[in-house]
Amino acid sequence: MISKKISKSVAGISPSATEETSFMANKLKSQGIDIISFAQGEPDFDTPENIKEAAISAIKKGFTKYTNVPGIPELRKAVAEKFKKENGIVYEEDQIIISNGGKQALYEVFRTICQEGDQVMIPTPCYVSYAEQIKLTGAKPVFFKTKEEDNFRPTFEEIEANFTPKIKAFVLNSPNNPTGSILEKEQLKKIADFLVERGVYIITDEVYEHLIYDDRKHISVASFGEKEKEMSITINSVSKTYAMTGWRVGYAAGPKDIIKGMINLQGHTTGNINSIAQKATIEALNGTQEPVKNMIKEYAKRREYMVKRLNDIEGIRCQYPDGAFYTFPKITNLFGKKYNGKIIINDVDVAKFFLEKAHVAVVPGVAFNYSGYVRFVFAKSMEEIKEGLDRIEKAIKELK
Ligand code: PMP
Repeated sequence: MISKKISKSVAGISPSATEETSFMANKLKSQGIDIISFAQGEPDFDTPENIKEAAISAIKKGFTKYTNVPGIPELRKAVAEKFKKENGIVYEEDQIIISNGGKQALYEVFRTICQEGDQVMIPTPCYVSYAEQIKLTGAKPVFFKTKEEDNFRPTFEEIEANFTPKIKAFVLNSPNNPTGSILEKEQLKKIADFLVERGVYIITDEVYEHLIYDDRKHISVASFGEKEKEMSITINSVSKTYAMTGWRVGYAAGPKDIIKGMINLQGHTTGNINSIAQKATIEALNGTQEPVKNMIKEYAKRREYMVKRLNDIEGIRCQYPDGAFYTFPKITNLFGKKYNGKIIINDVDVAKFFLEKAHVAVVPGVAFNYSGYVRFVFAKSMEEIKEGLDRIEKAIKELK
């Protein structure tokens, strides 16, 4: 029964499944069980020294008060320069807002453009928070499934087939969480043309843009031209690229009226983001990019190792992800097998089996609206990856 104390809109959202898995893993850890967690989507690296130093210096100089709600001018300028240099998009400062992580920027965009009666189209598998954030606005998330044989990339044909006149916005996430898939330029252009022609906003979540392998290229949809730029809101964050998940810095750029709405909303909810983190982010964007290059090199080695090892394990089949730091293997061949008298019937059971028998935490695909798969994070040390996969291999061999 739903408690009367809780509003209908909040009662309608589910807890974050990735956080739930981490919670279960942490509970076992607190009981003294040695758990290897491939569940939490964050870099295992420390924030680079130059960024930490910038924050320390901000504190020492007393930069510890309220700032402008959308961020200090120096940071908005650094973000505008980043967009110009890396993505080929020219944004004015007042087209940019600095928010508490990409997560807050996403919520603010949905809240600003969506309301009851609207629909927002999301290809799956997808990041856990989109649908819940959309539901909070009164709008309805509308999903369609991408195919593994298409590398989980949404196709123009799928979008056309699932399109309705109520669709106000489309969520694009390239590189994708949980699959790592990246849209190629031609595919992206075709999709953008279709959406822009129909007046649909493209919410483009680019938080993994730097984590790309095999010489692939990231393309921002807003870089195609004025029409695409007018219909896109680009979301980004320093969390993944600079190993800054705890600092809570994200940003959004888009049409002035939408950004203005987001600023008003932020002004009456959280206000400005942490002043010290803003100074640290200026250093992240403007300072040396060497630490980022080194982290990507490491992720590439781990990706190679994890994919090979997963494919060597019976019952698991895994594609190479184009980007991000996740693998999303298919595990349906484990269905029907037995452990401790329990039969595995779905991906939640597989995740439970890994946790209980192998003491390894992963997130079941259902959390990303895509059953039959589980997500592994490879932003972990090689030793942990090796040990975790050894454990899984052994546990699977013991299945009946
Ligand atoms: N988008 C995607 C696809 C993500 O995976 C995440 C974090 N897991 C975010 C946005 C939000 O990240 P943050 O709030 O730390 O910037």
